[in-house]
Amino acid sequence: MHKIDDQLAKVTARIHQAATAAGRNPQTVQLIAVSKTQAAQALADAYAWGQRAFGENYLQEALAKQIQLAELTDIEWHFIGPIQSNKTRPIATHFSWVHSVDRLKIAQRLSEQRPAELPPLNICVQVNIDDETTKSGVSLAELPVLVGAISQLPQLRLRGLMAIPAATNNPAQQRAAFAKLRSALESLNGQGYGLDCLSMGMSGDMEAAIAEGATFVRVGTDIFGARPTASADQ
Ligand SMILES: *Cc1c(COP(=O)(O)O)cnc(C)c1O
Repeated sequence: MHKIDDQLAKVTARIHQAATAAGRNPQTVQLIAVSKTQAAQALADAYAWGQRAFGENYLQEALAKQIQLAELTDIEWHFIGPIQSNKTRPIATHFSWVHSVDRLKIAQRLSEQRPAELPPLNICVQVNIDDETTKSGVSLAELPVLVGAISQLPQLRLRGLMAIPAATNNPAQQRAAFAKLRSALESLNGQGYGLDCLSMGMSGDMEAAIAEGATFVRVGTDIFGARPTASADQ
């Protein structure tokens, strides 16, 4: 438990330092603790430290943890994994945010299935920023049309863009990829969309992402340690 406290404190300090170095208010960067493959107790430990936003990739696993942690009513659940169309209803019901929307059909289903008594579901559109054939995400070329269509859906609130760039340890390359996502957001905002979120940056590249304007960083390994089943990652 103390280990998770220490790691959260370290990650928070890195966020603070990166934001300050970029001339940004650290409060404008929100940490999402990516808790895929972690037991509910690890999330409860992070919660006790003060963490409230958690990111999950696998629906069944996430729902099981939500039941175990049901008493922690102010957890904010973010769905960040690939979405199959037959899984949209529980996602629309049990999450506040979805960062991984890359097809109109999925967005339409999430909007139709979002329960009317809940506020609109917050959405980030996932962009395949490096045009990797194996990766999820809409291409930059197709992004404006998808954003235009999603912005019309009544039970969704389109908030911004998400990306997972090609892995590299080179800070300049990391920044170049994140800069592409930032300029895509700026160009959409030039058309009047008013998007306020850039979901980018993980354990290995959060500083570069913050330098390029990340408003959410999604950090797993540097909080909870290495995951047991790395092969299950995207
Ligand atoms: C697993 C995952 C993360 C966290 O990655 P780490 O390298 O463990 O920090 C962030 N975003 C997404 C979409 C993920 O699947």
